[in-house]
Amino acid sequence: MTAAQRALRVGGLQPFTGIDYPGALAAVVFVQGCPWRCAYCHNPQLQPRRVPQPEAVPAWPELLSWLGSRRGLLDAVVFSGGEPTADPALPRAVDEVRALGFRVGLHTAGMLPRRLRALLPRLDWVGLDIKAPLADDALHASITGVRASTKGGAAAVRESLAALQASGVPFECRTTAHPALLNSAALEAIAGELASAGVARYALQIGRPAGALLDAAVPAADYPPAQTLQALRRLLPAFEIRRGA
Ligand code: SF4
Repeated sequence: MTAAQRALRVGGLQPFTGIDYPGALAAVVFVQGCPWRCAYCHNPQLQPRRVPQPEAVPAWPELLSWLGSRRGLLDAVVFSGGEPTADPALPRAVDEVRALGFRVGLHTAGMLPRRLRALLPRLDWVGLDIKAPLADDALHASITGVRASTKGGAAAVRESLAALQASGVPFECRTTAHPALLNSAALEAIAGELASAGVARYALQIGRPAGALLDAAVPAADYPPAQTLQALRRLLPAFEIRRGA
């Protein structure tokens, strides 16, 4: 059996959400495994690829069967993670979900652009994480724990963004921000890059401390400063800020 024929490795399930796929009621399937080690990761239990199937989480065949029972109640299924594109079984899982009549969304950090490009014709919506200014390989590496020279760093995200732009699939870019990681200059640099790339939708998610930042202060209400927010809105009129992400 090839890796693509093995069942998707499921690390978690959110059976119902109104906020993870714009304008749709969705279930979120959390895929096990992520090669990155972001300082603020809220799902570190999803980082290792090979772990026993958690007892409380249905394996993919059971989950697919449950999704079949949700037809008419849900509009969409979102694959999140971990990093869903790191699982070679994702394309088949996406096809199985589409065959049930659901729209399909993907949350990705864009680390595997070739896999993302191949998947795009099967997707209805994508949320792309932008961890740091895409021209700043060193800052990107320090946030993700992935060496700047490593395949799958900021260069991969640049490639994924270009693939998304070319595909016509609706998408949003979003950045999880904490003052210990991203100052105003970095946030404005990200917004500038996205504006230059013609990105329409961008969200800043002000993160609660987690992972290696667990002991860090909760970001103050004035982070980022008002003038930074104004600059972001000037660059990206559809900019949105989400607190407590
Ligand atoms: S890319 Fe996402 S899942 Fe992977 S370590 Fe970073 S925050 Fe966690």
